Amino acid sequence: MFQISMPEAVKNIINKIYECGYEAYIVGGCVRDSLLGREPYDFDITTSALPEDVKAMFERTVDTGIEHGTVTVVMDGKGYEVTTYRIDGEYRDMRHPQTVSYTSEIKEDLSRRDFTVNALAYNDKSGLVDVFGGIEDIEKKVIRCVRVPEERFSEDALRVLRAIRFSSVLDFSIEELTACAVHKFANRLNGISKERIFTEWKKLLSGKRAYDVIREYSDVIFEFLPELREMKLLEKERFDELLCDERQLVLFASFFGASEFTKAAENLKMDSKTKAIGISVLNNLTLSDEYEDNALKRFILFKDDEVSIKCARICYAIERISKVTKQRVEELIASDSVRRVSQLNVNGNDILSLGLRGENVGKTLSMLLYAVADGDVENEKQALLNYVMANL
Ligand code: ATP
Ligand code: MG
Repeated sequence: MFQISMPEAVKNIINKIYECGYEAYIVGGCVRDSLLGREPYDFDITTSALPEDVKAMFERTVDTGIEHGTVTVVMDGKGYEVTTYRIDGEYRDMRHPQTVSYTSEIKEDLSRRDFTVNALAYNDKSGLVDVFGGIEDIEKKVIRCVRVPEERFSEDALRVLRAIRFSSVLDFSIEELTACAVHKFANRLNGISKERIFTEWKKLLSGKRAYDVIREYSDVIFEFLPELREMKLLEKERFDELLCDERQLVLFASFFGASEFTKAAENLKMDSKTKAIGISVLNNLTLSDEYEDNALKRFILFKDDEVSIKCARICYAIERISKVTKQRVEELIASDSVRRVSQLNVNGNDILSLGLRGENVGKTLSMLLYAVADGDVENEKQALLNYVMANL
């Protein structure tokens, strides 16, 4: 019989639940990904046992989401989410069902799930449980809502974004009725929390089909990134070569500076690192093929290497620089050249000892960094001090 391989711990959890007289399956993304030959990200388990029963069965459990019926079972040092079969009640705020009711029917649990490809369950005893044609849709590579798309999107608008996220990541198309409903319900996304939107958006950006999805479903994306209405989308090949966070930045690269991105970062509550790197990169897309080697060496001074590299990769993607220039920046970053004041073999005290004070100390150190980068002086203490004296 057809089998899906799963970690020993997951098998043990499922077997234990059966021994106690209940059913259990792996469900959702892990079944879908196994059928697709993709490495599952994590294994979620669904069961007919109530949360209290699950807690009684295992030595170590954590109440990670008990209000939605989820108990995390800790096994071999790893946590596995075990959720009781559920039917969702009324949706109050377009996101959280008002009530959660449990059921003893796996079919009912599958019917609350978003897409047919996510509504699959499996265990070694019963094999695959496929009530909504998920296997066929995996074969056809389509995203289709479980039941009536418009109803499913009006219950929970995040599903609109999840539909296009899965289309991007799995490289699937979206079935026609589902696609129509995606466009129709896109504006409901404004009722969804920004953090959840950003999580799905990041996954969408990293997907194989991201370029096509962004083009075909730009109306959906403008709902949470209205700044991008004026964006210019570059050619597909260069977009595809970029990393996830660079793909986001390149969408903002047709604007001058970082102000549009800053607005978006605040609105979507992006983490501070993503925001800071993004702002630095967008404010420094100044590279050009006119730059002599010395200018390239100066370009990477004072900046985080990560920022310099991303600037080069994005300038290349928007055809502002050639591959040769991009590679030269990468080479310079890979070299052990001096790029930051802290790498100079003199420090502030050395400059103070020469009699300089106040802001002149910092200015002198910066001047030395340029001089070392230009090859005008060795990064050696006495040579640097002599250089300062000669240039005072
Ligand atoms: P990933 O590999 O990105 O984790 P996943 O399919 O596991 O993909 P999750 O967000 O982890 O996605 O959700 C797990 C499962 O829960 C889904 O496969 C789906 O069955 C169900 N699910 C998640 N979010 C929703 C939702 N908003 N509406 C209905 N079902 C959902
Ligand atoms: Mg998952």
